[in-house]
Amino acid sequence: KKIVIAIDGYSSCGKSTTAKLVAAELGYAYIDTGAMYRAVTLYFLQNHISLTNPKEIQKALDNIEISFHYNPKAKRNEVFLNGLNVEDEIRKMYISNNVSEVSVIPEVRKAMVAQQQNMGKKRGVVMDGRDIGTAVFPDAEVKIFMTADVNTRAKRRQQELLEKKQLVNLDEIRENLEKRDKIDSTRTESPLRQAEDAHLLDTSHMVIEEQVEFVLNKTAS
Ligand code: C5P
Repeated sequence: KKIVIAIDGYSSCGKSTTAKLVAAELGYAYIDTGAMYRAVTLYFLQNHISLTNPKEIQKALDNIEISFHYNPKAKRNEVFLNGLNVEDEIRKMYISNNVSEVSVIPEVRKAMVAQQQNMGKKRGVVMDGRDIGTAVFPDAEVKIFMTADVNTRAKRRQQELLEKKQLVNLDEIRENLEKRDKIDSTRTESPLRQAEDAHLLDTSHMVIEEQVEFVLNKTAS
């Protein structure tokens, strides 16, 4: 029987790396919901959408089409915004610096959550984000909540950015992670929090293989 695996947690704990590998192992689809909020943020910045004007926000959302397409060369799913591949653009620091302010907006969350529920309705998905186990799929069969020491997370993110040839100062990265975690966990609409039935996974001292093992174990039991 195909199930939904919800992976939530703080920024840069290794959620997407873990989710991707678990999905590949099970032959499931992997859905990166953070990429969707990042794509919306890119659109809002490009089109100078006012974050305090609900009408303008709703009109913008009606004009946004987000989809995922598999790139066989890069062996990964990539996110498209209105038909354009924005996978690389949305990972840049200026998006990370604005995404949490866009993600607090109730209209934005409503639109994204509906689309995510639709993407997972046939089940057989691993979905990662902040509110998957609490708001998107409260009935997910397996829920994981990931956390890690903030310095470990900042170093991992710095390495990831470096691999994409982006040099970012460690303090700047740490500040961004802490700021996003704070906004994400204090917003009124589906804040970041551990679902009561989620398994806590602290990856501070773990390697990727152990994280994948942990999730697969919870899935089998
Ligand atoms: O997962 P990622 O770090 O790419 O997510 C970027 C941001 O998108 C988060 O910091 C959060 O503000 C927002 N987000 C969210 N709900 C989700 C996934 C991401 O609010 N389910």
